[in-house]
Amino acid sequence: MADQPTTTRIVLASRPQGAPIAANFRLEQSPLPAPTAGQVLLRNRYLSLDPYMRGRMDEGPSYAPPVAVGAVMEGQTVAEVLQSNAAGIAVGELFLAPGGWQTHAVLDAQVLGRRLDPAGLPLSTALGVYGMPGFTAYSSLHEIARLQPGETLVVAAATGPVGATVAQLAKLQGARVVAIAGGDGKRAYLQSLGVDVALDHRAADFAAQLRAAVPDGIDVYFENVGGHVLDAVLPLLNDFARIPVCGTIATYNARGVEHPGPDRLPALFSQILRQRLTVRGFIVHDFSHLWPQFEREMAHWLREGRIQYREDVVEGLQNAPDAFFGLLQGRNFGKLVVKLD
Ligand code: NDP
Repeated sequence: MADQPTTTRIVLASRPQGAPIAANFRLEQSPLPAPTAGQVLLRNRYLSLDPYMRGRMDEGPSYAPPVAVGAVMEGQTVAEVLQSNAAGIAVGELFLAPGGWQTHAVLDAQVLGRRLDPAGLPLSTALGVYGMPGFTAYSSLHEIARLQPGETLVVAAATGPVGATVAQLAKLQGARVVAIAGGDGKRAYLQSLGVDVALDHRAADFAAQLRAAVPDGIDVYFENVGGHVLDAVLPLLNDFARIPVCGTIATYNARGVEHPGPDRLPALFSQILRQRLTVRGFIVHDFSHLWPQFEREMAHWLREGRIQYREDVVEGLQNAPDAFFGLLQGRNFGKLVVKLD
C-alpha cells in the first residue's frame, strides 16, 4: 500500500424499482483517509452477500437504516489488518468486520467483530454456517421453534446457510424434516444431508407433493421465503404449530404494498386464533445472549462433521452485483461469498 490508501468499492448508485439491476450499482476507486488514533486500515478478503442487503437498498422504515445513495454498499467481511493505530490490534490479524462492498476500509477498531483464527475453521465460514446465518438458524430454533423429537419441520431456501443449518439442526433434534429448494441439483444435495423428504418448489404439483410429505401435518414451519411456499404450508399446519418468521425473500422485490388478489389477512388471523399458532418475527440480534453457546456447539458439530455446509464462492468484487441478483433468484447454491484476494 502507498501512504495514501485507496479502495475499489461498489456504491449504491440509485434505488431499485422492483428487482435490482446493474445501474443501481457503481464500481469506483476512492481514496481512504489514513487511519487515525483508534482506527485500523483493513484489506477485505471475503465479502458476504446476504438477502437483507435488498432491504438496505430501499428507503422507508425498517429495523435498520437504508444505505444512502452514493454510499458504499454495506456488508460483513473477513478482513486483515494492514495498518493499526488501535491498542491491542496487530498488523496481520484477521477480524469479522463491517467492511462493505470494497477491497479496503478504514474503520474504528471498536466496530470490529470477533477476531478470527487462521488456524481454525475456514475463514469464510465466519460469514455463513459459523457466523450470522448459522446463528440465525440455531438461535431461532432454540427460542421460537421449541422442536420436540418426532415433530415435523418444514423449511424452504434449504440449501442456503440459514435453511441448511435449520434442516440439519432439526434432524439432530430428532425431528422429521421436509426441506424445500429450487431444482433437482439442490434437491439431491438436501437428500445427501439426510433430510426425510426433499422437494422442489418449482414443481407444478408442489403443493400436492408437500401434502403427501407431511402425513402428520406440520409442527414447525421455518419461514424463509413466503410466497407460494407459504400458501402450500398454511392448510397443513397442526394446532399449536410454531412459525419463526425469518425471511420472506419471495417478496423482497415487491414495490410498496402491491399484493394482488383478495385480502387474506382476516382469514389468516382467524387461522392463527383457531389453531393457536405461534407466529413470531425476529432479527438475529434479538438472541445475542445465545452466541457463546452457539460458537461452542457449532464448532464442535462442524469439526465432527455432524453439520455440513456448502459455499458458493464468486471471485472478484466486480462480480458482486450479478451474484447478488442471483441470490434473489435462487442462482446461488450455498452460502454466497465474494473472494476479494
Ligand atoms: P440463501 O442462500 O438461502 O438464498 C436465498 C434463497 O432463497 C435462494 O437461493 C432461493 O433458493 C430462495 N428463494 C428466492 N426466491 C424464492 C421464492 N420466490 N420462493 C422460494 N424460494 C426462493 O439465503 P440465506 O440462507 O442467507 O437467507 C435465507 C432467509 O433468511 C432469507 O429470507 C433471509 O432474508 C433470511 N434471514 C433472516 C435473518 C433474520 O435475522 N431474521 C438473518 C439471516 C437471514 P431456491 O433456489 O432453493 O429457491
